[in-house]
Amino acid sequence: MPNQWARCPDCGRAVLIEGKPGIMTLHGCPSRECVYPGCRVKKPLDRMVQFASGEWYCPNHGLLLTAKDLVSLYRAEDDADWTAISKIIGEELPDLVARTEAREQRKAS
Ligand SMILES: [Zn+2]
Ligand SMILES: [Zn+2]
Repeated sequence: MPNQWARCPDCGRAVLIEGKPGIMTLHGCPSRECVYPGCRVKKPLDRMVQFASGEWYCPNHGLLLTAKDLVSLYRAEDDADWTAISKIIGEELPDLVARTEAREQRKAS
């Protein structure tokens, strides 16, 4: 049987098909799956978001979890942890927003 190639649905690379159709050879696939329960989004790394915990999320769920973090930090019993809050707003949110916007624009076009 001649070698067959197919495009990986996750990363878009041309990948050699091994044996049965649909079984792709290992190609160091650079995509990650969102670990949010029930979410099946799987995209290349530059379209996903990695949290400090090392887990990967799609931009939508990344935004959701970051918003929840902010709310709980803000509502912290004694006083809000403004250092952590500004770090999230200054360093994490801009990137998340940019990725989510890029995703929406791709959907729209
Ligand atoms: Zn792949
Ligand atoms: Zn997700």
